[in-house]
Amino acid sequence: MARMTVDSFYCKGCGLCVDACPKDIIRMTVDINEKGYHYAECVDQSKCIACKMCYVICPDVAITVEK
Ligand code: SF4
Ligand code: SF4
Repeated sequence: MARMTVDSFYCKGCGLCVDACPKDIIRMTVDINEKGYHYAECVDQSKCIACKMCYVICPDVAITVEK
């Protein structure tokens, strides 16, 4: 089973990962992080295929993908 997680502290809310995910399972949170940004989160881990598109595109290396 795959699992994608975001370190909210490092996320700057650019949204690139949301657009990159082929399974459309990444959303921006309503909550904000310590820096004042909405951050990304995976809304359905069961659909993650560990393609790492989100990981590759994130400019701040905030994403971890485990398989
Ligand atoms: S690893 Fe792929 S499927 Fe999983 S959240 Fe990232 S982009 Fe989406
Ligand atoms: S690409 Fe990285 S910095 Fe941008 S919203 Fe996604 S996790 Fe946050």
